[in-house]
Amino acid sequence: MHVSSVARTDTRGLHEECGVVGFYGVEGATSHAFLSLQSLQHRGQQGCGIAVVLPDGSLKLHKGAGLVKEVFHQQEINDMPGRNCIGHVRYPTTNVGGPENIQPFLFARMENPFALAHNGNIVNAAQVKTYLEKLGHLFHSTSDSELFAYLVGSGLHGDDWESAICGAARLLDGAYATVILTRDKLFACRDKYGFRPLSLGKLGEGYVVASETCALDSVGATFIRDIEPGELLCIDQTGIHSSFIARKGAHCMCAMEYIYFARPDSVIEGSSVHGFRRKSGTLLQKEHPAQADLVTCVPESSMSAAIGYAEAARLPLEMGLVKNMYVARTFIQPTQSMRDVGVKMKLSAVRSIVGGKRVVVIDDSIVRGTTSRIIVQMLRDAGATEVHMRIASPPYAWPCYYGIDTGTKEQLLAGGRTLDQIREYIGADSLEYLSVQALYEAAGRTQLCTACFDGNYPTDLYQE
Ligand code: AMP
Ligand code: SF4
Repeated sequence: MHVSSVARTDTRGLHEECGVVGFYGVEGATSHAFLSLQSLQHRGQQGCGIAVVLPDGSLKLHKGAGLVKEVFHQQEINDMPGRNCIGHVRYPTTNVGGPENIQPFLFARMENPFALAHNGNIVNAAQVKTYLEKLGHLFHSTSDSELFAYLVGSGLHGDDWESAICGAARLLDGAYATVILTRDKLFACRDKYGFRPLSLGKLGEGYVVASETCALDSVGATFIRDIEPGELLCIDQTGIHSSFIARKGAHCMCAMEYIYFARPDSVIEGSSVHGFRRKSGTLLQKEHPAQADLVTCVPESSMSAAIGYAEAARLPLEMGLVKNMYVARTFIQPTQSMRDVGVKMKLSAVRSIVGGKRVVVIDDSIVRGTTSRIIVQMLRDAGATEVHMRIASPPYAWPCYYGIDTGTKEQLLAGGRTLDQIREYIGADSLEYLSVQALYEAAGRTQLCTACFDGNYPTDLYQE
């Protein structure tokens, strides 16, 4: 559905760009989950958790607010022995953020415990919840996971786990990569559009699923394949069983996974994230060259694209901006002044490099424009004579309804503004974006979700 046919107000629910892992049949599963969640830390820093099947068959959960290394210490890991577990890292959001939403969640289905964790956003969650609440069901959190788990546990869709999960998944529309742990099975499921990545690997005699392949690498697992859109994997002692919750349709991997979210050493559906970004930089230079002396990235997320741009332009790639790694994320601060201060604390310009130079700055995206506006000023203050912004993605003009908390259309700098108005706001001498066509070319694929760039939402948005 195109957004022009839906309400413009932001009535979205929970927005989570998170990371999930699952281990089956792996000795010391919790310590492996600890390591792999750390390698997915870029996908969420607000909270994390692990649920494990203990040797006596019961499920144990530990979760809390903070980074993985803050929530899990040797003691917690020692107290969670087992071979099967799931884990989650949660991204902080501006609208919903209580500790009750940290995952995984533990539930029981006919006295059989199960744990569930998911990454994404269910677009018809409000409708399904309202329906269930009218029937008298109560929910404890605002998380879509609770809804998913409720539907699994309700017995509405059959007695065996597979039918229950399949039935629940069929009712829910939107973006999700979900892992579910029972006493003797691990399930992994991707929505039918395939918005969020989910990979399968092998570790010894056991199996691993993870949001990104970098998490497989971190524990020495061998990549087997991506879980397909609409696929439900059931892993138990007889091996791996695959079924589909829906027939294959459009394949809409989130373009922002390639552009910004995923780690550069991950491979998503056959395309290296670093390779994609580097190529997007090369194509950006071909589409929009600039007369300049040097190229710089905005550390670190645009490094790969800057390498591609600088190489194509035959310009030196310099460290014109440096990042203080110890400053927390600025993107989700609630007020503009807090975001401004955050960016100033996080980044600074290197006078000895940019002084007296015409600088091309490559960033992966402009969302509200906070970062670009501040770095252009910083570079000028450090003596740059010209600042040319080149963005390795198309203008981000439409809100995301699939788990990325980027704000309303009004808050998006490219929402309803011309290129020149945006350039003026950020104060650059020139500003250019990558075309949507080049985005597909860089990814080497013909289908992607590009809704935040073109407003073509792959799902219904279920808004009044
Ligand atoms: P802004 O400052 O609002 O224009 O945000 C753009 C900057 O934040 C870019 O430097 C991106 O690397 C980064 N970014 C883009 N999308 C996101 C997101 N969803 N969450 C956090 N940071 C982001
Ligand atoms: Fe990703 Fe943009 Fe689609 Fe959201 S709208 S899933 S950020 S491509």
